[in-house]
Amino acid sequence: MKANCWHGKRDVRIEQVPDPAILNPGDAIIKVSSTAICGSDLHLYNGVVPTMEQGDILGHEFMGEVVEVGSAVRKLKVGDRVVVPFPIACGRCFFCEQQLYSVCENSNPNAYMAEKMWGHSGAGIFGYSHLTGGYAGGQAEYVRVPFADVGPIKVPDELKDEQVLFLSDILPTGYMAAEACAITPGQVVAVWGCGPVGQFAIQSAFLLGAERVIAIDHYPERLRMARELSGAETLHFDAVDVPDALREMTGGRGPDACIDAVGMEAHGSGVSYIYDRLKQTMKLESDRPTALREALMACRNGGVVSVPGVYGGFSDKIPFGSIMNRSLTIKTGQTHVQRYMQPLLERIQRGELDPGAIISHHLTLDEAPHGYEIFQKKQEQCIKVVLHPGP
Ligand code: NAD
Ligand code: ZN
Ligand code: ZN
Repeated sequence: MKANCWHGKRDVRIEQVPDPAILNPGDAIIKVSSTAICGSDLHLYNGVVPTMEQGDILGHEFMGEVVEVGSAVRKLKVGDRVVVPFPIACGRCFFCEQQLYSVCENSNPNAYMAEKMWGHSGAGIFGYSHLTGGYAGGQAEYVRVPFADVGPIKVPDELKDEQVLFLSDILPTGYMAAEACAITPGQVVAVWGCGPVGQFAIQSAFLLGAERVIAIDHYPERLRMARELSGAETLHFDAVDVPDALREMTGGRGPDACIDAVGMEAHGSGVSYIYDRLKQTMKLESDRPTALREALMACRNGGVVSVPGVYGGFSDKIPFGSIMNRSLTIKTGQTHVQRYMQPLLERIQRGELDPGAIISHHLTLDEAPHGYEIFQKKQEQCIKVVLHPGP
C-alpha cells in the first residue's frame, strides 16, 4: 500500500510499504477514506520530537471502512464506516475506567521510554513516534487499529467524512480545552492560536456559555475565520501588546480563562526547554514571551489556564510565582477523545457544530508532502488539510 512516511526534518515521502495485518485478536484493519494533517504532526515534521525513525508512517486523524476484524472483535464488522480516536486505549485499565483514555496503561509497548522522560507513560498514539508506542499512522491506504471494540465509533451514512473526521482529535481537543475552563455564563475566554484546535476551542467556549471569546493569532485568514465562523473578537499579536490589550478589553481584570492552543513551537521566546534549539533551527527572533507564558500572566486572579497545546519535555521559566500567588488553576493533557466522540457526534447531527467548515485544502494522499509544507508555512491560506487516499 501507499503511506506517508517520515524521513527527517521537513522530509515526508509517499512510499510503498507492506499492508498492515491483524496482530492481535482485538485488532481491526481500516481502509482509510480521509485523514488529516494536525498541528501535532508539525512537531514531528519540525524535527523536535525524539524517537522518530526513518520510514515511520505518520497520521493520527483518520476514518474509513472496516475491511478485516480479529477473532475477538464484537462491536465492529466488515463494511462498518468508523472514525478512530488518536489515543489507543484498552478500555479496561484503572485509567480507562475513569475515562482517562490518553493515559491508558496498556497501550504503549514503549512505556519505559516515556517513563524515563516523564516519570510515567501516556497511552499509545497512532503515527506519533516510538515514545508513544511506535504505531503506524493513518496517512496511508490501510491502518491497523488495536482495541477495535474500544476506540472507533460508527458514523451514520448521511454525514459526510468532512463532518465527522475531526471527531478523531481536534474537535474533542478544542472541546476538552474549553470544558476544562469550567465556564459560567457571562465569562470571557481568551484563546491563543487560531489554528484548527483554536477554532474548535473558540466554538466550544461559546457552546459552553462564554459571553465573549478573544482569539489571538497573526494570520489574517485565521483571525477572520474566528470572527466570521464563531463571532470571536480578535487580536493580531504583531500589532498589539496582547496582555495590555486583554486587560483593557476586560475592565482591567483579565480574561476568566485562557487557552493555549499553540504549543511548544510558539512564536516568541523564553518558555520551551527546546527554545535554544528552536532558535537555531526555526530562526525565532521575537522577544515576545510564548503563548503559554502570556496566557499565564494575562489570566485573571483565580482563573483557569487550559493547555491543549502540546509540550514535549521540560518547560523552564514558567512563572510559577504568578500561578501560586494568584490562585490560578492549570488544566492540560492529551485529549481523552473516546469520552467526547458520541456527545460531539450528536451535536453535529443536531447542527450545533459544522466541523468541516475549517477545511481549507482537500488533497490526495500523494500530495501529502505539499500539504505538510503549506500547513507548516501557513501558505496558500492553509488552515486544515484533509488527505484522501483514493478509491
Ligand atoms: P496550527 O499550527 O495550525 O496552529 C497554531 C497557531 O498558533 C498558528 O495559527 C500560529 O500562528 C499560532 N501562534 C503561534 N505562536 C503564537 C503566539 N505566540 N500567540 C498566539 N498564537 C500563536 O496547529 P493546530 O492544529 O491548531 O494545533 C495547535 C496545538 O494543539 C499544537 O501544539 C498541537 O500539537 C496541539 N494539539 C493537542 C492535542 C491534545 O490532545 N492536547 C490534540 C491536537 C493538537
Ligand atoms: Zn491531531
Ligand atoms: Zn486502558
